[in-house]
Amino acid sequence: MFILDSHCDTPSQLIRLRKLDKDGSHSHVDFPKLRRGGVDAVFFALFTPNTMVADAATRYALQMLEAVYESVGENPDMAAMAFSPDDAFRNKEDGLISVFLGMENGLPIQHDLSLLRLFHRMGVRYMTLCHNGDNEICDSAAGNARWGGLSGFGREVVAEMNRLGMLVDIAHASDKTFYDCLETSSVPIVSTHSCCRALASHRRNLSDPMLRALADKGGVVQVNFYPLFLSDSFAHTLAQSGLEEEADRAEAAFIASPSDPDAVRAWEKTQDKLKALPRPGVKEIVDHIDHAVNVAGIDHVGIGSDFDGINVPPLGLEDISMIGRLFDQMTIRGYSDDQIEKVAGLNFIRVFNEALRA
Ligand SMILES: [Zn+2]
Repeated sequence: MFILDSHCDTPSQLIRLRKLDKDGSHSHVDFPKLRRGGVDAVFFALFTPNTMVADAATRYALQMLEAVYESVGENPDMAAMAFSPDDAFRNKEDGLISVFLGMENGLPIQHDLSLLRLFHRMGVRYMTLCHNGDNEICDSAAGNARWGGLSGFGREVVAEMNRLGMLVDIAHASDKTFYDCLETSSVPIVSTHSCCRALASHRRNLSDPMLRALADKGGVVQVNFYPLFLSDSFAHTLAQSGLEEEADRAEAAFIASPSDPDAVRAWEKTQDKLKALPRPGVKEIVDHIDHAVNVAGIDHVGIGSDFDGINVPPLGLEDISMIGRLFDQMTIRGYSDDQIEKVAGLNFIRVFNEALRA
C-alpha cells in the first residue's frame, strides 16, 4: 500500500526548535512517526499567515523551504525529497519516506508570476491559493468577497500553474473561487485538506454540489482531520472553552520568535489543555470519508491530515503514526483493499500525474 498525506504544516515547526529525526512529544509529524505509520509520502506545506505583509511572507516561505531541504538532507537514511509520483515510488523502493513541497496561501508570490515560477523551480508542487482571508489571487471562505471569486491575476495564476504542472488547491477558498477554479483550470483540481459541509457546517468544508462538481472534473478531496472541521459539537465545545484565543496567541508568539523556548512551552501547554476537551476521532474522520465517497465516488477521495497545523488532533489519531487506524476502520465498514489503497494515496497520485502530464 502507498500512503500519502497531502497536507502537513510541519515546515513552520521546523524553523522553531524541531528536528525531524526526533520523536517529538508534541509533534504530529516527524520521521520516526511517519515510519511507524507506514507513511510513504507527505506534503509539507509552506504556510504563511495573512497577518504578514507580502515581503515578509516571501521571506518566511523561503526560510521554511530551506528548513525542509536542510531537515531532509540531514536524514538521508530516512527520507528524500520528491517532485513527482515517480520520485516517490522510487524512494519507497529504497526504503525512504518522500517529502513533497506545497505552499499554503499565495501571499509569497505577491503579484508576480515569476515568483510563482521560482517557487515551482525550487520544488513546490501545489499551491493552496489562499488562507483565512482574501488575497491578490482570490476570495477566501473566511474573507469578504473582495473579488467575487478569482481575481484577474488569480486567473493568470491558475493558467500558469496548469502550464507548470502545479496542482491548484482550493482548500480555504470561497465557494465562488472554487467554481471559478473549476471553470478556469484545464486540469483537475484538488482540495488538499477539506471536510464535508453536510456533516459539519464550517464554511471551509465542501458542500455536496461542490464535491460532485470536483469529481466531475476528475479532482480529489483530501479529508482533513481537524476536530473543528469534523464536528459542529466540537466547534461549540471549543468556542465555549475560551481556549481558541489562547491557542491563537500561543501560535502568534511562536511565529514572532520561533527559537524562544518559552514560546514553545506555552504552545505545548495550550495543546495539552485542548486535548482534554471531548473531541471527535477516527470514527468521525471515516464518516467524512464515507460521505465524500458516497457523493463524489471512490476515485475522488483521499487524506490530508493538516497535522502540525491544527491546535488539537482527533481522538485516537493523535499523530501520523496512528494513521493505520483509519484504514482498519474502513475495512470494518466494508471497504475492499483496492478501495482503501485509492483513498490512502493512489487517487491523489492520479491527479498529480494528470497535472504533470498536462
Ligand atoms: Zn489549511
